[in-house]
Amino acid sequence: MSAFRDLPRAARRLILATIVVGAMAAGIRAPDLLHWGRWDLLTWFGLSLGSALSEQFTVAVRHRTETENFSLTDAIWVPALMFARPSVLTFAVIAGTLLGHSARHWDWYKIAYNTAQFLLAITAAEFVYGLFGLSDSLQLLGWLAAAVAMLAYFAINETFIASIISLVEGEPLRRVLVLPEGLNALHAAGNVTIGMLAALVWRSGPVGLPLLIAPMVITFLAYRGWVHSKREEEQARERDRMKTLYEAGRALLRPLDSTFDFLPFLQLVRKMLDAAAVELVMCEDDARVYNSESGLLLTMALETDDPDPASLVSTRPGMAIYLAEIRGAQDVRGVLAVHRREGLSPAEASLVEALASQVYVNQENERLFQETVEQRSHLADVIGNTSDGIFVVSPDRRILSWNPAMERITGFGRNEVVGTPCDEVLRLHLEQEDSRITSVGTLILDAPETQDARLIRRDGSERWIRYTSNSMPARDGGAKAFVVVARDVTAELEAEQMKGDFVATVSHELRTPLTPLKGFLMSLEQGLVEDSAEARHEYYSIMLRQAERLERLINDLLDVSRIDSGKVALDLVAMDVREALLEQIREAEQQPSPHPVEFVRPDAPVLVHADPFRVGQVVSNLLSNAFKYSSPDSSIDVSVEVVGDAALVRIRNEGEGIRPQDQELVFQRFFRADSGLTRRTGGVGLGLYITKRLVEAMGGSIALDSEPGRGCTFSFRLPMAESSASAHDQWPPAMARSG
Ligand code: ADP
Repeated sequence: MSAFRDLPRAARRLILATIVVGAMAAGIRAPDLLHWGRWDLLTWFGLSLGSALSEQFTVAVRHRTETENFSLTDAIWVPALMFARPSVLTFAVIAGTLLGHSARHWDWYKIAYNTAQFLLAITAAEFVYGLFGLSDSLQLLGWLAAAVAMLAYFAINETFIASIISLVEGEPLRRVLVLPEGLNALHAAGNVTIGMLAALVWRSGPVGLPLLIAPMVITFLAYRGWVHSKREEEQARERDRMKTLYEAGRALLRPLDSTFDFLPFLQLVRKMLDAAAVELVMCEDDARVYNSESGLLLTMALETDDPDPASLVSTRPGMAIYLAEIRGAQDVRGVLAVHRREGLSPAEASLVEALASQVYVNQENERLFQETVEQRSHLADVIGNTSDGIFVVSPDRRILSWNPAMERITGFGRNEVVGTPCDEVLRLHLEQEDSRITSVGTLILDAPETQDARLIRRDGSERWIRYTSNSMPARDGGAKAFVVVARDVTAELEAEQMKGDFVATVSHELRTPLTPLKGFLMSLEQGLVEDSAEARHEYYSIMLRQAERLERLINDLLDVSRIDSGKVALDLVAMDVREALLEQIREAEQQPSPHPVEFVRPDAPVLVHADPFRVGQVVSNLLSNAFKYSSPDSSIDVSVEVVGDAALVRIRNEGEGIRPQDQELVFQRFFRADSGLTRRTGGVGLGLYITKRLVEAMGGSIALDSEPGRGCTFSFRLPMAESSASAHDQWPPAMARSG
């Protein structure tokens, strides 16, 4: 028991009142002390000592926090009641209890309360015994009187003990009073019997008293053994209950991703409490879900947001109901209800509360798990669908994860790379700052600044990536792993490169005609030119050619920009492609160092559905290339024929030709093959690009056939006027297809 001031108020009051009344009872007996003789004093001394001694041997029955002690002392009071002076008995009880309990070092108020309540009990017994008005204690009625008096003693004694325990522990009085299998009644009966035996022995000659020691010891041992066995039974029951509690708790553990069945849990709770029914009502968003141990599952609408738990379940006739709230931090989440004929004991109630909070924990875990799963799948979606490559590398440089964008960039699938060293997979080449030399390098793992590197894909092709890498810190401060985010920047870098090349080529191409133009103009201005009509004519025609070259370049640039933005206007009409070819051949032949041109054509007009100006441009581009890239003194073959519903034009020249790997590329913007002739001749690599786009825009197609060292044949088809009058009279659709 805790210190006196910590006791409940009611308990403190009871203790003080009992002490006061006990003191009064002692006070009433006090005057009789004057009449005590030697024998009385001796009896008092013997009884006090005997009872103090007997109080050292007690059998303890534990309540929740308090202990009730059973002893044989009461047996001593029976002969004393029958033969001793009442005041002797009264003061023997006082002295014996004070002495006996002080020897056990109990708290002062316990000693005082025990003494007072024993005193009151014995006073009542003396009173009841006195009622019989006996002259000789040993007559038959004497034994009856003693039995009835001791009954009063026990009744008062038990009531006082049970009252104080019930007040301190907050248990109902009845529950403390009634011990399992009537232990207290049995104890009382046993003590009275021994007491009567003692009285009998005393009367027949006190010498026989030591004979009583044996039955007293045996009785004490019997009490003790009995209480022990009860305690063991109680412990076994407690163990069973704990086991069921454990099982009920386990029933709440679940694989979190499945829909949970509360049935086994509820059945165990019912079994554990021996209840008539157990229900669980959970509030879920705007509905309440019923689970009962009979397997019933119901969902019902909920009227309020924060319901009163009692409103969630209904009581059952003849049954007590216990409601354990399932409570979140702010609101009621549900209720665990137990229906039983008898109400739950505080211990059982606290078990149910514990289970209810486990249900809450279970629900909370479930919610958090779902949230985590959702977040994870959300994150996986983000990582899976981003266009940036994301992968994770362990500190020992092994790949831990690999997203689909990385698969696209490198060509390596997730399954083949996870677990392998990143440098084996990525095979990086690092660009040197100043030049184009590359060296084999490794992925830089701690690179918050962007890094560029060239990697070799699974199929051997090359890609440029721009990446950053950040460490994920581990608890010890080191790096747990590195997250690398990589972007395929090949196209961007190519565009940048192309832009650079373009500016260089275009400036060079602009300057080439400008230099002679300026030179001739200066000579003319300063009168350095021979003043003859032929000389002037030659100068003017050179200057005109250079001006035309400039014009062509500027027109090409404008065309490319129009083609790229889809703004080229076409004027499609029926036209004779032979005439366009003838005109361009004649013009080409005006060029210096011409090559003979062989032109094979049908006699009848070849009418195509096309834009005459653009057809002229196409032929001019192809012819001027044929002239530019022909080997000296070779001739150029031009032909036109009708093949199916198209006119097929071929322009062939002898010369270096185009390497197979360049044949696709020559039609790209700014592409110039790396050959001796190309380097020697001017040009920006736009002619074939424009040509191809124009032919396609007019509904035709272009092809290249070249054998390196032998020459090139460029051939293009244009739809015949009759068959395709309506299909290709608009520019954008055709552009859209080829762009
Ligand atoms: P440009 O002639 O201004 O360089 P083009 O787009 O007309 O640009 O040609 C692209 C490249 O294709 C040329 O640089 C050249 O290397 C190659 N090419 C074009 N026509 C021929 C040809 N008839 N013979 C050999 N190479 C050619």
